[in-house]
Amino acid sequence: MQLETIAVHAGAEPDSATGAVAPPITLSTTYQHGPACEQTFGYLYIREANPTQARLETALAQIEGGEYALAFSSGMGAGASLLQALDPGSHVIFPDDVYVDFRTLAKDFFPQWQLEHSIVDTSQPAQVQAALRPNTRLVWLESPSNPLMKITDIGVVVQLARNAGARCLVDNTFATPVLQRPLEFGADIVLHSTTKYFGGHSDVQGGALIFAHKDQLAERVEHTRKLLGAVGSPFNSWLVLRGLRSLACRMRTHAANALAVAAALEHHPQLAAVHYPGLASHPGHAVAQKQMSAFGGMLSVRVKGGREGALRVASRVQLFLNATSLGGVESLLEHRASSEGPNSTAPQDLLRLSVGLEHPDDLIADLRQALA
Ligand code: PLP
Repeated sequence: MQLETIAVHAGAEPDSATGAVAPPITLSTTYQHGPACEQTFGYLYIREANPTQARLETALAQIEGGEYALAFSSGMGAGASLLQALDPGSHVIFPDDVYVDFRTLAKDFFPQWQLEHSIVDTSQPAQVQAALRPNTRLVWLESPSNPLMKITDIGVVVQLARNAGARCLVDNTFATPVLQRPLEFGADIVLHSTTKYFGGHSDVQGGALIFAHKDQLAERVEHTRKLLGAVGSPFNSWLVLRGLRSLACRMRTHAANALAVAAALEHHPQLAAVHYPGLASHPGHAVAQKQMSAFGGMLSVRVKGGREGALRVASRVQLFLNATSLGGVESLLEHRASSEGPNSTAPQDLLRLSVGLEHPDDLIADLRQALA
């Protein structure tokens, strides 16, 4: 079945009690069971599993092409639950442009969880190879990366990880399964902040892990989620599921709009660089072409005049909103170094753009007037 069809129909069976076509939001925290706690209806307690979340997980597994999916309260909840399920003494390799809060989590929590980590430029597979240790259990990729839009060759790094007995995770938040399918390149786990494109309307927080196989690690992560309580709410599961229904067509428009914006700005005299993997000038363009069907709705630009130049543009946009996060219908822009705070490695002259679903001509006009 094609992705568009899966997006519409996965986990969408009409309600068996009423025939309702739109799925119900089952808010109950507890479920009637037999005298010895027999699962009469398949559920016991909301934190373990609930019908709305189960529908979402069915859909997530199908759309990403995995065997098993777990929904979480946030993207951070998903990532942290996975990392906490690793054995003490495990080593994790992160990309140098990993989403900032994962870098902070490794710095602040890995020592007490007895985990080790290295940070390398994963767009250079030789650096991954050099960082692998006998106790490396996970190689974490983010492609395109946030906010420099670096591209890592997923298939190549998967092979390096596999040869070393490590799993490979891809944070597929920027691309979504519509544009990039990491499990088909051999990745073991896909992570999403469903707060972004899956939700799609800047009104829900959620996270997800999709596992190629329901193996022992997947079961440990479910156990971790249950005991540490990183589950989402039924309402949030419902909103993410609703967003998923239109994900395929939204992603194509986000990507077409971002490409139009990137191409229009590429040679702008006030910009020192435009980072967008859809541009032939991007160092990762060839790899991106190999592993993505389009290049996503995110880009970043480097403004001449450093921090002051970037802040000037941020203060002059009218249609783009100054706000963090991404993946909603409205276009957002932010001075990423200010937003990331003290652990930021984002260049001071960088603005990150989440290109929405407005007409690209209006977005380009807004950026041109702000850059003038
Ligand atoms: N991964 C990426 C690429 C992100 O951009 C974010 C958040 O911005 C996260 C993970 C974390 O997701 P959440 O904010 O839902 O916890």
